[in-house]
Amino acid sequence: MSDCVFCRIVAGEIPARIILKTDTVLAFHDLNPQAPGHALVIPRRHIATLNDASESDRAILGDLMLAGAEVARILGFAESGYRTVTNCNPDGGQTVYHIHLHVLGGRRLSWPPG
Ligand code: AMP
Ligand code: ZN
Repeated sequence: MSDCVFCRIVAGEIPARIILKTDTVLAFHDLNPQAPGHALVIPRRHIATLNDASESDRAILGDLMLAGAEVARILGFAESGYRTVTNCNPDGGQTVYHIHLHVLGGRRLSWPPG
């Protein structure tokens, strides 16, 4: 999808501070970090929202979570703790409609989120 900012990052058309690349996912630093460590993990293949994921996406959803844990290890906060979040649609706070996992760490995160 040429008008999708995350597809353009996958295609190398927009720069990103890459943390991890696999056959199926990409992780990079969020442009507007909400914690000392804030990364995004995205599938290479475009899926707009969690609502659009189907049975055939079971493996890629697992890949996102496992890559999230790997990113936390790489960024050094796996043991102290972190949060993974997927926002869905307007009330969930989703602004980029290419599914992604936020990985936030490096400070104590409050709960419940706003
Ligand atoms: P969400 O609001 O859950 O859809 O999250 C989208 C996230 O993408 C936000 O945290 C943005 O700061 C981040 N973002 C948007 N454009 C870029 C970009 N070009 N590179 C890195 N992060 C981005
Ligand atoms: Zn996309």
